[in-house]
Amino acid sequence: MTRIYNINLNMERIRNVKVKYDYKYLSEYCKKNNITLNKDYSVDKINRDTIIHAKCVYENCLENVEKNIRQLCNVGCYCRTHVKILSIEKVKKTNITITKIAPLAARGYIIIGGVNGVLQGVDAVTAGQVVMGNGTDVVSLPISSDASLSGTGALTIANNAITTVKILNANVTVAKVSADLKAEVLTIPASFETGELGAIKFKMPYPGSIVNVYAIATKAIAATDAGTVVLKNNAGTTMTVTTPISFAASDAFGTAYTSAITANNTFVAGDILTILTAKTTAGGKVLISLEVTRS
Ligand SMILES: [Zn+2]
Repeated sequence: MTRIYNINLNMERIRNVKVKYDYKYLSEYCKKNNITLNKDYSVDKINRDTIIHAKCVYENCLENVEKNIRQLCNVGCYCRTHVKILSIEKVKKTNITITKIAPLAARGYIIIGGVNGVLQGVDAVTAGQVVMGNGTDVVSLPISSDASLSGTGALTIANNAITTVKILNANVTVAKVSADLKAEVLTIPASFETGELGAIKFKMPYPGSIVNVYAIATKAIAATDAGTVVLKNNAGTTMTVTTPISFAASDAFGTAYTSAITANNTFVAGDILTILTAKTTAGGKVLISLEVTRS
């Protein structure tokens, strides 16, 4: 409201070019603008150059102001400090443009709050450094220790920086290891001997698939007929082989057969798989090597 009264009074002066700066005018101006005078001017003879002593009207300031009556009524009753503040308030926000701000020390500086919040420039131009808070200030520092950052933003993990504790146990999965690490071999003895023919079962504690079979005679195969080896999955379905494992009659110790396994060969943890031997005339023993790919 204070400013509106000022405008009204200023307009009045514009309209009535000659304002009579007397006590009546002063007292009316002070009443409308809540100005507290430091002395009683009613007994003085006031003219346009009379120095008026009053209190600054800016909020709770009450600093002493000394101005002649013309200045007082033109710019308001403000102390030096608050005249400056009011001048800043008069600047339209959109007129404070970035091009009107004094340049920083050099290219690549940023403005931060320094000591007591006073604005200051910080050099943030060093390649690969990031701007961060350190608990007191905003600083520009390189990424260090387990990783580094290039000036183009490429993050590099340092060699041997990922320690075991930084990897969640369950996150080291079979899918993330090389083919060599996924490969395993199970060696299982089987037999064509009397009383030893038939199904040998074994239980898998992890998931995967049987991808190859290699069978070698560990005792000469008996005469008369062939001895066969068949592999079955948990459901009892015969695994598909590219070459059936069939020892010929009288195959010598050390004779071996091999085949890839292409279907019905997957299993999950807990599955029970079967090696089934068959031979009409009993005799002979074999060692079965199964190549497993874990999944
Ligand atoms: Zn003031």
